[in-house]
Amino acid sequence: MNMQEELRKLPSVDRLLQEDAVTGLERRWGHDLTVTAVRDTLDTVRLAVREGRPCPPNEALVTEVDARLVARLQPTLRPAINATGVIIHTNLGRAPLSSEARAAMDAVALGYCNLEYDLQAGSRGSRYVHAEELLCRLTGSEAALVVNNNAAAVLLILMAFAQGQEAIISRGQLVEIGGGFRIPDVMRQSGATLVEVGTTNRTYVRDYEAAITPATAAVMRVHHSNFRLTGFVHEPTLTELVVLARERNLFLFDDLGSGTLLDTAPYGLAHEPTIQESIAAGASLVSCSGDKLLGGPQAGIILGKTDLVARLKRFPLTRALRVDKTTLAGLQATLRHYLLGEATEKVPIWRMISQDEARLEKRAKTWARKLKGLGVAADIVPGLSTVGGGSLPGEMLPSHLVALAAGSPDALAARLRAGEPPVIARIQDDRLVLDPRTVLPEQESALWQLVAKVARNHDIGS
Ligand SMILES: *Cc1c(COP(=O)(O)O)cnc(C)c1O
Repeated sequence: MNMQEELRKLPSVDRLLQEDAVTGLERRWGHDLTVTAVRDTLDTVRLAVREGRPCPPNEALVTEVDARLVARLQPTLRPAINATGVIIHTNLGRAPLSSEARAAMDAVALGYCNLEYDLQAGSRGSRYVHAEELLCRLTGSEAALVVNNNAAAVLLILMAFAQGQEAIISRGQLVEIGGGFRIPDVMRQSGATLVEVGTTNRTYVRDYEAAITPATAAVMRVHHSNFRLTGFVHEPTLTELVVLARERNLFLFDDLGSGTLLDTAPYGLAHEPTIQESIAAGASLVSCSGDKLLGGPQAGIILGKTDLVARLKRFPLTRALRVDKTTLAGLQATLRHYLLGEATEKVPIWRMISQDEARLEKRAKTWARKLKGLGVAADIVPGLSTVGGGSLPGEMLPSHLVALAAGSPDALAARLRAGEPPVIARIQDDRLVLDPRTVLPEQESALWQLVAKVARNHDIGS
């Protein structure tokens, strides 16, 4: 094959643009994008031909132009299938939302709404009223405020109540949450002086007491979230800290992290402290995430005493951390599920947590049968799902996994990630496994199709 001859066969940009199929693409995607895709395609192919490859036929060039246009316009944020068995997967967007929550968000996104409009008075209202009553009713709190996320809530609270003063925290609670978010850094950023007391494993009320000075404003408790303290350990209870804070006229802030309204113990998990417990214990303010065990949209929820929440509502930074109408609508709809006692059926993460083993085994068997029908051999193996999202570390939920019978697990995982929609799986004992617990029923058939396509193309069929 003569390389010069092959290069001469390559059409010019203008020639390729005149191909019928390319004129079609141009009508669809516009002139500029199409010309760029044609140019890029020809540049790439020219390099390949120089390396000794033959000049591809025009149809192949057109297919490549089409693929480039599609790839160029694909959003970077795309829906994915979570087959990892990690329920609140922060990298995969944490909590999927209920259909009611999605409908509520869609309804307010579609047009106008009374976000900051008092319908009765016909005048300006406040966005902060929208989820407040529901939150108070569910938790027993006097007042509530919703901000962008829990990190924002922590920063806001410390700035408003401890800036330029001291905040006392146990050394056992100086947590790094993930993504480099460290409680001591946030405390410093807020302008509060961090006063560490106790040791990593043991802190007593008397340690807090000894650290109180005239400059002390706050006592902060932080939920361990993603690690467990076991062995020779001690921490005061929230009630003990509340008593101390009351006696010494200090502000007691409880950062609950995940925050749950339902008890996790009935599902074979450790007891995760509930929001209601923190409010009942008498914390001045409590904060938690909207999209961890609450199962709603991303938000930071602040609960507690009326006068303190009122001060936060007036605090200038609150404006910078405010949530939009879709968040408030989704949060309200999610909270309504708890009020109606239907959270374990309607809130997706609770449906996943409460899914029993028999049901999971049945789903795994169906998956293996469907895959077999598509020419892919798979086994069912025991495995464990986790809750994730910085809650219940080390706690496992028994599951039934679908293990693909052959193929390099790493290569297979990469090909599933490249799928449409991307599928994120797990590797266990050197095999690629799929956990039905975190896959939504409406995603199942897309998952089977993609696994079959990937498996067939890579010779691991039965
Ligand atoms: C997760 C977590 C945060 C941060 O919450 P986001 O909603 O992710 O901003 C803060 N504090 C604790 C203890 C957490 O577990």
